[in-house]
Amino acid sequence: MNLLPFDHLPPHTPRRFVPEKVDWGDWSQIAPLFSELEGRAARGVGAADLERWLLDWSELCAALDEESTRRYIAMTCHTDNAEAEKAYLHLVEQIEPQLKPRQFKLEQIYLRHPLRGQLPESRYQVFDRNTKVRVDLFRDPNVPLETEEAKLSQQYQKLSGSLTVQFRGEEKTLVQMARYLEEPDRALRQETWELVTHRRLQEAARFDEMFDQLVLLREQIAQNAGFANYRDYAFRAKCRFDYTADDCLRFHESIEREVMPALRELQAERRWRLGLDKLRPWDLAVDPLNRPPLRPFDKTDRLVAGTQLVFDRLDRQLGAEYSLLQSRKLLDLDNRKGKAPGGYQSTLAEARLPFIFMNAVGVQRDVETMLHEAGHAFHALATRDEDLYAYRQAPIEFCEVASMGMELLGNEFIEAFYPPPDARRARRDHLEGIVEVLPWIATVDGFQHWIYTHPGHSREERAAAWVALMVRFGGDVDWTGCERARARLWHRQLHVFLHPFYYVEYGIAQLGALQVWANSRRDRVKALADYKRALTLGGSRPLPELFTAAGCRFDFSAQTVKPLMALVRQELAKLN
Ligand SMILES: [Zn+2]
Repeated sequence: MNLLPFDHLPPHTPRRFVPEKVDWGDWSQIAPLFSELEGRAARGVGAADLERWLLDWSELCAALDEESTRRYIAMTCHTDNAEAEKAYLHLVEQIEPQLKPRQFKLEQIYLRHPLRGQLPESRYQVFDRNTKVRVDLFRDPNVPLETEEAKLSQQYQKLSGSLTVQFRGEEKTLVQMARYLEEPDRALRQETWELVTHRRLQEAARFDEMFDQLVLLREQIAQNAGFANYRDYAFRAKCRFDYTADDCLRFHESIEREVMPALRELQAERRWRLGLDKLRPWDLAVDPLNRPPLRPFDKTDRLVAGTQLVFDRLDRQLGAEYSLLQSRKLLDLDNRKGKAPGGYQSTLAEARLPFIFMNAVGVQRDVETMLHEAGHAFHALATRDEDLYAYRQAPIEFCEVASMGMELLGNEFIEAFYPPPDARRARRDHLEGIVEVLPWIATVDGFQHWIYTHPGHSREERAAAWVALMVRFGGDVDWTGCERARARLWHRQLHVFLHPFYYVEYGIAQLGALQVWANSRRDRVKALADYKRALTLGGSRPLPELFTAAGCRFDFSAQTVKPLMALVRQELAKLN
């Protein structure tokens, strides 16, 4: 039974090494492929043999990746199908644990290979340095610690997801409560905020306890790998070769200097429009003019047609690529029963085609998500001719330039969905979101820098460090009487628990996206040509080169941030 929404898609390049038919759920059919690669590595006599070997390994990685993606898509499109779930879990639980040591062995073989020095250095520079990090950082004693870390992460998710409140006689999850924070009725917003906050605070000790354990585990992992602290370990493990911890701290300073004035201005305007003397934590999500939400489309067909119009107007090639996604059935956008929540873009690694999954319900957020995921999809299509599997994926700091850049570029043609006043409102909301999120990124990132460079800190010291960052980056919101909630606000930021140090990437990428957009204001044809060319590089070049190719500076100083914020503020003023 084919549970995939798209028709059969053949591999982009016919297989040379992997047999035509493999049962990927049967380890006994996969293991010999690894054994063959292990054995063949020693028999190579020239650089060409080693390159062929790398491409065969790539082919195997792509086939495995595509199988896992196909099973994941089938499962998320049919959560009510037990077979689909079983097939995916079988891969995750039975096959992947066996894959890891075999992949690691191939990485070791490659790094020690006597012919490696003969490969063209510029071509393999990024591949080599990333492979080296995985091999260098691996420590046997860290394997059980990482399992322990994963278990605690799961506990965090379980606890967060299980919290409910009684609201008007009904039990509601905290996610379900979020919409009441957008209600014009201020008393209702306050009631909602207090209910949710109180519920979280009841679990504060458990969240803190889990986090204490996570910090200890992470410090031990870093120490085992020979690092002075977990921050330095995390930077290396994330292959952050092109920027340092100090660069991030400077980025926070740039945000403080250049973004905070814009945030305070927006907050003052919001306060004035809502007719309040002070903004309270429950006044931040409501529309300041009490307007009903934007309704860009009713049926998903209209979302697709509108997006097609946006891309046709923006750039002919991108328009053609978006219609390819449609004709190959690579979009599954309807919200329907039996579909997993949320949205994602993933790539069929062998077909070298992107797939977009969404649950569209007809709000502006859906249009934003569509443009965002389409940016990722264009990125995937741009790297189709790259044969080295690892290079078809760029680092996150640049992947998000592709997607966030497309939100800004696409928004210029958002009239495809709205009459002019609503189009201006959608653009304005989007830009406000950028001004609001950058200080939050600095808060979350700064907090983690503090945590992992202050070993042995107490819970109270940790809370104080968080509050200091909230004072620096929170703007003019009155927290009187809510001090305890403020000091524990980070408990709801999943990244801090699950993905340490993974957050600043979005800030870095936003600087790139804003630069692409600023460039397009001066010369759209050139800006788009640069953007598209940079996308074709995939992950084959270091970050500064990817940024340069896209016409951007890879720099987080105030010098970069200042003109971008000037443009955003100027635009916001026009959209008023
Ligand atoms: Zn994204």
